[in-house]
Amino acid sequence: MQPALDMLHATFGFSAFRGRQEEVVGRVLAGQSTLAVMPTGAGKSLTYQLPSVMLPGTCVVISPLIALMHDQLRSAEANGIRAATLTSADANREETIDRFRAGELDLLYAAPERASQGHFRELLASAPVCLFAIDEAHCVSEWGHDFRPDYRLLRPLMDSFPDVPRLALTATADAQTRADILTQLGIGEDGLIIAGFDRPNIKYAIRHRENALKQLRDLMGEQSGPGIIYAPTRRKVEELAEKLSEVTGRRVLPYHAGLAPEERAANQAAFVASEDMVIVATVAFGMGIDKPDVRFVAHAGVPKSIEAYYQETGRAGRDGDDAVAVMLWAAADFALARKRVEEVEEHRRSGERTRLQALSALVETAGCRRALLLRHFGEDPPANCGNCDNCLDAPGVADGTTTAQKLLSAVYRTGQSFGYGYIEKVLLGQADERIQQRGHDQLTVFGIVDSEEAPLLRQVSRALQARGSLATTEHGGLMLAGDAREILKGDVPVMLALAPKSERKRRKERAGGVNPLGDPLFEALRALRRELATEAGVPPYVVFHDAVLRDMAASRPANSDQLGTINGVGARKLEAYGDAFLAVIREY
Ligand code: ADP
Ligand code: MG
Repeated sequence: MQPALDMLHATFGFSAFRGRQEEVVGRVLAGQSTLAVMPTGAGKSLTYQLPSVMLPGTCVVISPLIALMHDQLRSAEANGIRAATLTSADANREETIDRFRAGELDLLYAAPERASQGHFRELLASAPVCLFAIDEAHCVSEWGHDFRPDYRLLRPLMDSFPDVPRLALTATADAQTRADILTQLGIGEDGLIIAGFDRPNIKYAIRHRENALKQLRDLMGEQSGPGIIYAPTRRKVEELAEKLSEVTGRRVLPYHAGLAPEERAANQAAFVASEDMVIVATVAFGMGIDKPDVRFVAHAGVPKSIEAYYQETGRAGRDGDDAVAVMLWAAADFALARKRVEEVEEHRRSGERTRLQALSALVETAGCRRALLLRHFGEDPPANCGNCDNCLDAPGVADGTTTAQKLLSAVYRTGQSFGYGYIEKVLLGQADERIQQRGHDQLTVFGIVDSEEAPLLRQVSRALQARGSLATTEHGGLMLAGDAREILKGDVPVMLALAPKSERKRRKERAGGVNPLGDPLFEALRALRRELATEAGVPPYVVFHDAVLRDMAASRPANSDQLGTINGVGARKLEAYGDAFLAVIREY
């Protein structure tokens, strides 16, 4: 693989392959078809971009979104790879076709719709093609979460070029989806390569939502880089964006399907180009955004499923630098989600319940969050990751079974129609007029929780709601549900994760994560990067990633040779930007 390594260094400036890239590239170079399942940020694009430079002929890349294609195009061109997109949004289609025919393209990006068109097939027949790369390949499967019928047109197209190998790429595919992708795209089972799901640079933290605005403000205070905040509704998105920008003074813009298309596109573009902006969005945001320097992803409410959570948080830290994923949850989120489950078609209900159950386990666990996530995806991870809230600051565990029994019993005996506040008063023995009128001060549960146990009550109630043992009535009262009866009988325990004492004065993370903010040289390099990016009309990360600037500031290369040894500085970028960066380094 020496030639591939040499080309890796010359084109991308990388000194080594990552994870299972080398294996995938090896197969492509040997003409073997492959399905590679690798997590977000693993570097899937490189597994076809690198061979496309090494092999004679053009690599045809199928991608589901024009925005994704244009993003890739910019990055490929910045590395000196000859690439073009052939989409309805491109005015230079004639020129692209000529370049393809003349063998002047390493990469040709197209959408799946084009694959079915007769003249696209004719075009591909008119010049050598070295590889079909199918990005976001889960779109071909109905089992996947983004089924795109047009992906089904790829197989007939590729079958008419039997000598061209295929490379399908995806980050999210369970066993069923993987098998389906192999069949739908005509790739043999021996071509399956699965990299682990783990994203070790993302730190997971899950907290109860006390005051979303304040908690998010604090998070933004610790994280000065770009961030995404997911909120459940358009109204919440608008409200949070406005208030957060007010209280933090930072640029915070909204994104949801209700905005005018121009505003939505403008906000997205501003985010992609920014080094410190925060976008508050509904889950409509994210697909097709490969911004590598997102430093945090926050959920202002409970996500839809563990799969959705993993995909959304996966948008943080693609560049490999430290990033955080923070979820703020409340019992009400689960109550609402459970109500919705009862409204879906009957045959989907039990699946939806299982999804919610898995989420509540993630939220409630006192154990390692990452281990739970990875086990969910069928892996066998170590018990502790050392990079999630529970590993870094272990919560205590308490047996809340007795308290839970008292609470459930009070809910039952008062007729399953009162809210938490009322039940709490009954349990604490605080009779008011309403309680006396109904004779609830005469119940055996009246006053059975003493002042020592009292602080546990609210948390027990939350936990019972999250796991579905308590549900809310139409009028907001609590009622028994799920395994409440088993808990009352003593057949099922209720364990509680107790917030660690140090949580309140949680260690402040260094602002900006690993970047030496405030270091004059680093700041000067960032300023130069901004300038060059604006000039070229690309986002700053296309010029160089933060890690490259950090390396420059730390190692202070004195000449072009030394600069070229930094990871991420390939031949093209060295030629285009080398002198400008060296000049700045000399000044400091
Ligand atoms: P994916 O499509 O798997 O989510 P990308 O192809 O967008 O990931 O790559 C994510 C980032 O990783 C890119 O910014 C890329 O430059 C970087 N990268 C890829 N391969 C390597 C490598 N071997 N060494 C260092 N960085 C890499
Ligand atoms: Mg990708």
